[in-house]
Amino acid sequence: MNFPGLGDDDFRAGFVAVVGRPNVGKSTLINHFVGSKVSIVSPRPQTTRHRILGVVNRPGAQVIFIDTPGMHVGQKKAINRVMNRTAVSALAEAEVIVWIIEAGQWTALDQNVLQRLESVSQPVILAVNKTDLVSDKAALLPFLNDISSRRELHAVVPVSALRGDQTDALMTEIEPLLPKSPAMFPPDMRTDRGDAFLVAEIVREKLTLRLRQELPYGLTVQVEQIKRDGERLDIHAIIFVERSSQKGIVVGKGGNVLKAVGTSARRDIMRLLDTSVHLELWVKVKENWADSEQDLRRLGFDTDAG
Ligand code: GDP
Ligand code: MG
Repeated sequence: MNFPGLGDDDFRAGFVAVVGRPNVGKSTLINHFVGSKVSIVSPRPQTTRHRILGVVNRPGAQVIFIDTPGMHVGQKKAINRVMNRTAVSALAEAEVIVWIIEAGQWTALDQNVLQRLESVSQPVILAVNKTDLVSDKAALLPFLNDISSRRELHAVVPVSALRGDQTDALMTEIEPLLPKSPAMFPPDMRTDRGDAFLVAEIVREKLTLRLRQELPYGLTVQVEQIKRDGERLDIHAIIFVERSSQKGIVVGKGGNVLKAVGTSARRDIMRLLDTSVHLELWVKVKENWADSEQDLRRLGFDTDAG
């Protein structure tokens, strides 16, 4: 395998942690740069639960983004502790930090992230996302000035991750901050996660988009089997819920929720893995999995982070 940058003294490669409160668009930004869905996205906070790498190959650099669960406060379950630890430990790994906030929005949760960044010595670039939602761009200036006065920032770049507006400008700020090094991952590798993980996450994204209120937080998905069967990939996945009362909701009337989730997940999996797919989903109860470090470890959470 030929690694980009070998024998090129000017090539750069390194890790960029993407941090920010839940729902600001961290995963959307990384998917945009990678060019495919390596990290799932939903309008709900805490969709991202794991540390996920998104590898971006540029002509002169390999930029390795670390997606993180949004830093949050006030929730006491083991899964929340694990997610916060994951986000904080990503800071230590990175050469550059991209901190995301939403244009025109400043909340107590953003303040909390700012506090976490106090101990950080790497350069911090502030990406002010969702500018597409702001009609009067001039009105953003006082907001940007105000935030910039709160911390030393390497740069402030307003972007729209969804539309790809000004994301090149953001990349232009990031690249020169990376150390000179050959690429660390092969050029065809988009993420450090295997197919089983990506499939489980896509199923969870579809569930999160379809289910109301708190239920998505009580779910986790595990792929039991992923096997090539001639032309197609035969996939079996289990959806774990915390209580038996949740099982019926996930299955839906006459199985309609599960069917719809399966159909849209299958479509995304086919696109991502570029193959035809047979997907079977089961729902099982595993009581309080989200508050048991042991269950979390078994379900693939990085309980040792930090
Ligand atoms: P994360 O929790 O920070 O990873 O945020 P996500 O990437 O999951 O995005 C949260 C929500 O914000 C999703 O509904 C996204 O579609 C939406 N979103 C992300 N970036 C943008 C953007 O630039 N503009 C708009 N309008 N919505 C965005
Ligand atoms: Mg996310």
